[in-house]
Amino acid sequence: MRPFLYERADSPERAVRSAGDAGVQFIAGGTTLTDLMKIDVMRPERLVDINPLGGGRAGRIEETERGIRFGALVRMAQAEAHPAVRGRYPVIADSLKLAASQQLRTMASLGGNVLQRTRCEYFREVSWACNKRAPGSGCSAIGGVNRQHAVLGTSDACIASYPGDFAQALVALDAVVETAGPQGGRRIAFADLHRRPEGTPDVETVLMPGELITAIEVPAGPWTRRSRYVKVRDRDSYAFALASAAVALDLDGETVREVRIALGGIASVPWRAREAEEALRGKRLDEASALAAAEAALAGARTFEHNAFKVPLAKQTLVRALLETQAMEV
Ligand SMILES: Cc1cc2nc3c(=O)[nH]c(=O)nc-3n(C[C@H](O)[C@H](O)[C@H](O)COP(=O)(O)OP(=O)(O)OC[C@H]3O[C@@H](n4cnc5c(N)ncnc54)[C@H](O)[C@@H]3O)c2cc1C
Ligand code: SF4
Repeated sequence: MRPFLYERADSPERAVRSAGDAGVQFIAGGTTLTDLMKIDVMRPERLVDINPLGGGRAGRIEETERGIRFGALVRMAQAEAHPAVRGRYPVIADSLKLAASQQLRTMASLGGNVLQRTRCEYFREVSWACNKRAPGSGCSAIGGVNRQHAVLGTSDACIASYPGDFAQALVALDAVVETAGPQGGRRIAFADLHRRPEGTPDVETVLMPGELITAIEVPAGPWTRRSRYVKVRDRDSYAFALASAAVALDLDGETVREVRIALGGIASVPWRAREAEEALRGKRLDEASALAAAEAALAGARTFEHNAFKVPLAKQTLVRALLETQAMEV
């Protein structure tokens, strides 16, 4: 690991003032950042530790008139175990519980979780060409081993998949990210936080240098209680998703009044499947209509040498998620 300077921020303003250039990184749980520093993929000159902020609102979960608000320093394990999250937003609790290991979830923060970086092996090994790590160097995955890579939202510059789970629940539920930055605070629709790779895969989010995520707000809706996250992975212990689906449903008998769907493991960003939602709204939910929705969701898929299996896998994952969500007792 390369040498770096370390400082602690005791207020959001101090954190933002201390950051602000490309050589500075905030550190929360450190479970992604220090990993990437050890393998020389990330080389910050200075770390600003934001953990002291966790003693205030940034460390709390609050139910509000509008929904639920997670401070950015709430730990994954803390959110997963919260009674309001389990009872009223089960898709969020599921997405956290199925992510990483208990040890990691105890350490890792929600703000850091949504900003974790891809697990593309070529990104994580500095001897390979990678446009995300070294812009303009090429993409080793396109002609390489690309079993885990994305089939939606890719570009000719990068086909990496977004690895997280929680983000799928957030994008499905229309979450909003609150930030503090050099030019003041902002509220960003979660769906706009992550950028597709296009020609600049190294620019992964719309955050500015030094912009701090302070909270994530999730609006309550009649669909949040009947909601579920299904994750398919290579083994039943901690592993990243090959395909996943976050579903939230509001039913009128067997008819879909409202539905929210997001897919994971298969796209460059947390993927809201609006075509699938359109296909289901106002329809009777059964295996045939669920499959039609899944076909619509994957219609734009572009596969590579080793990952064509993800298309049928993602469809079946979504069908299962829809039917299991329908069967929930709420
Ligand atoms: C072995 C392993 C398995 C894993 N499996 C899964 C999995 O199955 N599913 C899954 O979703 N995740 C998985 N993870 C990822 C894990 O969930 C993330 O590492 C963790 O959530 C990151 O949170 P952190 O607080 O440790 O972030 P950090 O490592 O502290 O930070 C990550 C990045 O976010 C930035 N950052 C942190 N907080 C803020 C903030 N408030 N505002 C602005 N920038 C910020 C940092 O500067 C850094 O760039 C796994 C990780 C490991 C090591
Ligand atoms: S897929 Fe993206 S992250 Fe992976 S090697 Fe290609 S450019 Fe790099």
